[in-house]
Amino acid sequence: MRRPILILTAVLLAACSTTAFALRKISGDSLATQLAALMEWRAGATVSDEAIRVFGGPDSCFVSKPIPDRVWRGMQGKTYQENPHISRNDLRHVRVLHWDYDNRIHVGEMVCNQLIADRLVRIFRKLYAARYPIQRMVLPDVYDADDERQMRDNNTSCFCYRPISGTSRLSKHARGLAVDINSLYNPYIKVRKDGSRFIQPANAAAYCNRKRNFRYKITSGDLCYRLFKAEGFVWGGDWQSLKDYQHFELME
Ligand SMILES: [Zn+2]
Repeated sequence: MRRPILILTAVLLAACSTTAFALRKISGDSLATQLAALMEWRAGATVSDEAIRVFGGPDSCFVSKPIPDRVWRGMQGKTYQENPHISRNDLRHVRVLHWDYDNRIHVGEMVCNQLIADRLVRIFRKLYAARYPIQRMVLPDVYDADDERQMRDNNTSCFCYRPISGTSRLSKHARGLAVDINSLYNPYIKVRKDGSRFIQPANAAAYCNRKRNFRYKITSGDLCYRLFKAEGFVWGGDWQSLKDYQHFELME
């Protein structure tokens, strides 16, 4: 009587592990591929709870580091140009995870000023814990530092060295002190003197009416707003002369 039960148990175990394997394959990359994505910090990859646990747990996925060589090379001539104002040592590489509406965990990265690196780590750790949806967080260098292109793609980012033309003043993004969140759904809107609107990105007209309900919308009082405010940032959605709903910058 023992033997058939043993065989049945073995068959059931085999069936279960095959199912588990199949599910893992269906839900994304293999565990080894996900772990490699975390070890090499491949922004844009999706990872499972299991991969995060093996990697060392969620807290080891929220860190800021000196700019790695790979990232620094990729920034040259794109988000970084030789200049007297900001150097590699002033900047940090922030690594975070973020959720999206697809119910998956995404690997994200951002370059910022070292002044705000720890604050960003704290903010994105809390947004992750609350499953606040962020669609994409890759470096603007992926888009050749073309701001319009990355906004159209709803990217979330921080540093991009761009002197304001005609002035000696640097924008907060040029100093790595401003963050744009879910940029397509939270556009920049300025009403010109003739009454026409200048919208960035240009395909964001549907998201200018802030009374409408749509996904990724930042509102005064939502979690993203509250966390940035608590860490000393101002929100471009609170400005009067223009609106920049994606934009949080350090108050100085
Ligand atoms: Zn901005």
